[in-house]
Amino acid sequence: MPIKIDSKEAALKFIEDHDTFLFDCDGVLWRGNTPLTHSADTLKLLRSKGKQIVFVTNNSTKSRKQYVNKFTKLGIDAKADEIFGSAYSSAVYLDKMGTFDKENKKVLVIGESGLEEELHEAGFKTLGGADPALNRDFGPEVEKYAIRDESIGAVVCGLDLKINYLKIAYAQANLRDPRVTFLATNVDSTFPATDMILPGAGTVIKSVSFCSGREPDATLGKPSKAMMDCILEKFKLDPKRTVMVGDRLNTDMKFGANSGLDTLFVLTGVDKVEEANKFGVDPTYYADKLGDIFELLE
Ligand code: PLP
Ligand code: CA
Repeated sequence: MPIKIDSKEAALKFIEDHDTFLFDCDGVLWRGNTPLTHSADTLKLLRSKGKQIVFVTNNSTKSRKQYVNKFTKLGIDAKADEIFGSAYSSAVYLDKMGTFDKENKKVLVIGESGLEEELHEAGFKTLGGADPALNRDFGPEVEKYAIRDESIGAVVCGLDLKINYLKIAYAQANLRDPRVTFLATNVDSTFPATDMILPGAGTVIKSVSFCSGREPDATLGKPSKAMMDCILEKFKLDPKRTVMVGDRLNTDMKFGANSGLDTLFVLTGVDKVEEANKFGVDPTYYADKLGDIFELLE
């Protein structure tokens, strides 16, 4: 059973014992577009003590730049370099594979503008994504358009709010060629909106995977090692003095545990403390909310 952070002493020791704090975003800092009470103050407190702060989110719909806007709107200080989203880690991974011919090939994006933006930033040409050409109803004409395009070298798939039959058919037609790389940003089945649970990227990826008969070659969000490698390229951290804070057991807590980090499970998101052992991960600490750390030390 995790240790509850519910006293001034426990909060102080939690801070003293760690130099680096990795934060999941949705369900920890905010829920949808609503900031969670005193999360921003807890971050400020940690910064004032010189702690290293990193944000790790599975949301593939936004680029790091788009995330900075969201942080600013919600009154939280963050730099693009501190933010690791699954759109960014997917672009970094495809680049590091070293097999993609950037000059002559394109990436088919099943996802939102943030994913396109990160791929462009890494020097990839793309098609799909927010392009209106794929975002309309083709009806029976789908057969004319959903065909293998030899210029496509990879399909990168995340949450696409305008997913339609044509995009799924186009992705599968290209994935039938085994030379085409298949990457999934993250496979969260759901994510918490302000007042409800909505289908996550996994819903889109499973549809593409099902009809193409292929599993993604890699999945880049938490709990993947690729996401941790992406962070370690930019930040030095001592696993013994690093803690991963999150609301989801099978992504956040597993991500931290896989790298031998301490974990703080907060109850402002998807999972409940009674389920803490469900995925074979036993968080180190838990708290009703991240803001409790600020409130206990006020
Ligand atoms: N995927 C999508 C599309 C989301 O909108 C969200 C949260 O808003 C998530 C995943 C989960 O993000 P996080 O890892 O920050 O909880
Ligand atoms: Ca979360």
